[in-house]
Amino acid sequence: MSKQINISSFSLSYDARKSCLELFELAVEDKKLADILQRNVIQPNVDRIVDEFYDFMLSHDSFRPYLKDDALVARLKESQRSYLDTLGVDFDTPGYFEDRIRVGVIHKQVGLSTTLYQGAYTKLLGIIIDKIPAAEHLGASRREIASFARRITALDMSLAVHAYHVERIEEMQVSLNTLRKEGAQLRDQVATDELTGVHTRNHIMEIFSGAMRQARTQKTGLGLAMVDLDHFKSINDTYGHLVGDKVLKEIAGKIQALLRGDDLVGRYGGEEFMIILNNTDLAGATIIMERVRSTVAHMLIEVDIDQPIRVTLSAGVTTLREDDTEDSFFHRADEALYDAKRSGRNRIASR
Ligand code: GH3
Ligand code: MG
Ligand code: MG
Repeated sequence: MSKQINISSFSLSYDARKSCLELFELAVEDKKLADILQRNVIQPNVDRIVDEFYDFMLSHDSFRPYLKDDALVARLKESQRSYLDTLGVDFDTPGYFEDRIRVGVIHKQVGLSTTLYQGAYTKLLGIIIDKIPAAEHLGASRREIASFARRITALDMSLAVHAYHVERIEEMQVSLNTLRKEGAQLRDQVATDELTGVHTRNHIMEIFSGAMRQARTQKTGLGLAMVDLDHFKSINDTYGHLVGDKVLKEIAGKIQALLRGDDLVGRYGGEEFMIILNNTDLAGATIIMERVRSTVAHMLIEVDIDQPIRVTLSAGVTTLREDDTEDSFFHRADEALYDAKRSGRNRIASR
């Protein structure tokens, strides 16, 4: 019940209001009947109408669960009174429509079904019609007043039901947004390597395909580097796997920090990384990777042991050629990596 009601999302346009009024056969001339209904039927009987209505509700099993405590009933009776006070008054104005829609929202929030709501409404209409006096001096016949009461409550009921539907749509919108958010989170999880925080293999391979296409259409250079940490097995063997993990994470973070804004790094395998260097020729790619190599080689990685750990890396670099397929481009970078390993490690080789 504490939820803010934002009526603006429920409001009906002028045209929608107009066609609503036409549908329930309510015309400007009926304002005279609204006035008669208020002065001669509702105002003299408002307390009796409310009491009879709540007596009816309290005597029914279906409504009783919503009317558990006396304080609540007193509050509901009060709002029922003000509802009746305005029934039919200026029924063609936006304010009237909003008030009636608000009534629907409140009932929905209480948890009352539309069926129960419509049942109660029909009862209320019966009670009101019963109170129409037979007197001739009212300015309209009993039948005319009853007809107006029927038409105006039909309008009110339809507006309330409209509110129920809009609320439902809003709820669906909220759960749709939640689903979208969860979907995006899942996508992130799939795209980001849990240990190192760089792209996953699948994701970097996707980026790789996209980058090749883009480089070809925009006729820009594209560099590719494959990186493998040197003698990493011995780090695990010496310090244990957990320390190995920590080192891996630190180095991945460092590589990422050293790259330019539109370069991308992914974890290709255990301690192997794939780096996509956009808008770069072979000389440029080699310079960037040389900076990565030398910075990593000088890193002192603090772990929970006495002395910091040092690790080096080797990398193979190449750039996209006209006749390359994804395989040939990738294979050349991998070959260059093995050149770097074979020629002594802690170095960059290019092909
Ligand atoms: P080199 O590449 O220089 O030839 O030697 P290396 O010892 O690094 O050899 P290789 O690349 O074949 O082995 C990789 C090692 O990296 C083996 C494995 O124990 C370790 N490794 C791979 N993934 C992980 C990981 O997620 N965490 C840890 N702690 N170690 C890993
Ligand atoms: Mg290695
Ligand atoms: Mg390896």
